[in-house]
Amino acid sequence: MAKPASGPGGIRTLAEANLALAGAEWLNARGCQAVFEAIEVGGFCARAVGGAVRNTLMGVSVADVDIATDALPDDVMRLARSAGLGVHPTGLSHGTVTVVADGSAYEVTTLRRDVEAHGRHATVSFTADWAEDASRRDFTINALYCSRRGCLFDPLGGFEDVRSSRVRFIGSPQDRIREDYLRILRFFRFFASYGDGEIDPSGYAAVLGERDGLSTLSAERIRVEMLKLVSAPRSVDTLALMQKGRILALVLGTDGDRRRFERLIAIETELAIRSDPIIRLGVLAVNSPNESHRLAQRLRLSNDERTRLVNLAEVLESPISFNLGEQKVWLYRLGREAYRDRCLMAWASETSSGNAPDWRQAFELPDVWEVPEMPFSGKDIIDRGVLPGPRVGEFLAKFEDWWLDAGFPLERELLISKLDRLIKG
Ligand code: ATP
Ligand code: MG
Repeated sequence: MAKPASGPGGIRTLAEANLALAGAEWLNARGCQAVFEAIEVGGFCARAVGGAVRNTLMGVSVADVDIATDALPDDVMRLARSAGLGVHPTGLSHGTVTVVADGSAYEVTTLRRDVEAHGRHATVSFTADWAEDASRRDFTINALYCSRRGCLFDPLGGFEDVRSSRVRFIGSPQDRIREDYLRILRFFRFFASYGDGEIDPSGYAAVLGERDGLSTLSAERIRVEMLKLVSAPRSVDTLALMQKGRILALVLGTDGDRRRFERLIAIETELAIRSDPIIRLGVLAVNSPNESHRLAQRLRLSNDERTRLVNLAEVLESPISFNLGEQKVWLYRLGREAYRDRCLMAWASETSSGNAPDWRQAFELPDVWEVPEMPFSGKDIIDRGVLPGPRVGEFLAKFEDWWLDAGFPLERELLISKLDRLIKG
């Protein structure tokens, strides 16, 4: 079947592209214009590049703005400072200065040519040649630039690939991957985010041939790509390709449970909730608390993220019940977020027999029931004559168990007499 003539943004012609860029909110933002102005006042040229341009042409929201320039980093810093903008030399060795204007941060990078590339630590030299800068980038759709007024500059034919939603390496896929093995994961991530139809066959063949190079990547770089990939629109198809190509196992240490992952996506749609990368990752890849720890270690997740993965796996060992009283106890003990995480994992795994309305009700409990606060604290126990020490906690825990079992009663007299009896008994 012939591909649609327009990309998802509905943009077909160069004139439409220029119009969309010229009207883009991010480009017209005061801060963005101030950065362009500061650089151009010095007689240099600046262009937005990468995700911001690509997404605008595809009709997708723009998260951050990268700017390329023929000014050297020292000039960028000097010019930005004299324009009164914030300057942070965040990556001088590869030519990047972060400029803060009107409260937003812009990464300004001097045009580069990679002299010798080995992963993140490519040896770079600066150039004034825009085409050279374009050809060291990864995919044609990422090598699109636009001027301050929204005029598209497309030295490598990336616009055509944007129009047909095609993710293609710039130059020889194999050579480009060998320069930086992260491009294997970026190939899948961009396909999952923006690809349409079949994956580019020459790119796919090359990533499979080079997959062993993944072992050279740092956990931090893998983490960023994988968290974006699992939340992308075509994550299911992409994960299938990665599994078939024995890449998923190299990255995550498991082939993952794709059926459970697909069910999660259906559930998110049913509940009209936004996807959360950690839940997506957990549902895909963990089956036990041990596996959660291993995955967290492998991807250098934060402590918070690790705890969430462990919590997700725990529900497989103690399934969600459809008894309202028990659900309230879980919600009370876990807190809103962890409770909901568990509902999603359990629902996607269908560890309990229940139909969609049951699951939905369980998930929505935090919206309809306000978790009451424990009526007593350690001070109440001490006020009743118990000496400070471990026994205070024991009494509190006993009382709490009773209180939860009794269905969170709130009548003050009943609670006080129960506590008194507990302590005296
Ligand atoms: P998004 O920010 O939406 O994830 P992006 O395209 O802006 O997408 P970034 O990772 O922010 O991606 O990188 C900005 C640009 O830098 C890319 O568009 C690409 O041109 C270039 N780039 C980034 N990483 C690499 C890489 N590993 N190899 C080659 N070029 C890269
Ligand atoms: Mg970006």
